[in-house]
Amino acid sequence: MKHIAIGGFFHESNSFNPIITGAEDFLIFEGDEIHTQGVNYLQAKGIADFFGDKEDCRLIPLVFARAVPNGLVEEALYLKLKDRFFELLEDQPRPDIFVLALHGSMRVQHIGSAETDLLEAIKARYPDLPIVCGLDMHATVTQKMLQLATAMVGYKTAPHLDAWETGQHAARMAWEILFEQADLRMAAVKIPALIAGEKSETDHPPMKDLIAELHSLEADESIAAASYLLGFPWADAQENGVTALVVSKNEHSQAQEAAQMLADRFIEFKSKFDFSMPAHPSEEALLLALRENLRPIFVSDSGDNPTAGSTGDNTGIISLLSGPLKEKTRGKKILVAGIFDPSAASKCKANLTRKICLKVGGNYDTKYSQPVELTGIPIKMLEEFGPFRSELILFQTAEFYLIITSKHIGFTAVDMFQALQIDYLQTDVIVVKLGYLTEDFKAIAAKSYLALTRGCTDEVLSRLDYTHKYELI
Ligand SMILES: [Zn+2]
Repeated sequence: MKHIAIGGFFHESNSFNPIITGAEDFLIFEGDEIHTQGVNYLQAKGIADFFGDKEDCRLIPLVFARAVPNGLVEEALYLKLKDRFFELLEDQPRPDIFVLALHGSMRVQHIGSAETDLLEAIKARYPDLPIVCGLDMHATVTQKMLQLATAMVGYKTAPHLDAWETGQHAARMAWEILFEQADLRMAAVKIPALIAGEKSETDHPPMKDLIAELHSLEADESIAAASYLLGFPWADAQENGVTALVVSKNEHSQAQEAAQMLADRFIEFKSKFDFSMPAHPSEEALLLALRENLRPIFVSDSGDNPTAGSTGDNTGIISLLSGPLKEKTRGKKILVAGIFDPSAASKCKANLTRKICLKVGGNYDTKYSQPVELTGIPIKMLEEFGPFRSELILFQTAEFYLIITSKHIGFTAVDMFQALQIDYLQTDVIVVKLGYLTEDFKAIAAKSYLALTRGCTDEVLSRLDYTHKYELI
């Protein structure tokens, strides 16, 4: 019987966002809860599902913690999670391997790379045990992670649709180590470049072609995994950048060469990275969207994308719609999804269906925005929406409908609109705090524009203040 310890911490930490991500932002579960909560942490579920029906295997599920990308993670919380991770091992048989569902770009106050710290802690206690990790495509791979882990594999899709499959892939490599005595080793080449998140959609060249290289390498029996880990563009961190990673199996002579080939391909395609949807300065993007006759037209407020760790409370777009573009909104049904503001949400809650003056946003992103005064009516409220149990308020002004959330969550799917009974298909313009559209939105968008707004996820990387040196793409 082999004992497989599984667990994971998953967070993308944006160093430009001043919010400290705390316990209330995380979805935390442990042990057998993986079987019921795994649907909210698909990479971890992929690992658990792989071993679920295997004979001679017993899972030891530890701690799982996942939050929407945000600012750095609170140190005390991280240390508590890490303690619990090891505490759960105490009454268990000694594990034979660790298989972890990680992001790779989780950063903790005063500690830095959470993944490096966790791997170090595991190795300090179990120096001889192999560790296999699944990673997000935007993982920041440190030199220490390469030394401490036996094998790592990243997502191959952006938008990320293969989290479960990546968990399965990591689990399969662990299985090969345990039951086939596979000798897995990693070879990596680092490229000190950062790519704006919205230039790396895998349905579009050049990422599409680069991912094809990964698949063709993995078709070879001696390659257990091939990945491009792109780093996280909105973290000013020392070892950020792109990593071309190859895990070789039993036969290692070609591995370094294969990793170098991937790095060379990346460099060769570097000038081809571009936005996959029309990208314009904010006001221009809104004007173009307002001129369209089709509906719904999506506008991504890309500089403030909470799913890439922005504050979610930048008011740039609502200032334009309620200010200089006010006249242009006439006769148009506009939905802004949305803004993160717990105090505005509670004021709305106390004044449901009453006309009020509401100060909204600009609490955290004080660099690129300020609070905006709106007059309107909180027409609907919903409690405990989604896995992070946010309140949702639908606030109606003369110019637009605005969704206000009490929690820092993403605006990624139509279930939020459905929950608020918004007739989104009959809405002319839907502004989302997002970058490239999710599958859900792509399915209904008549057209979409990327508004190059300012904020903690500015797509124009050169406008951000990095202290570390990378080539910015
Ligand atoms: Zn990612």
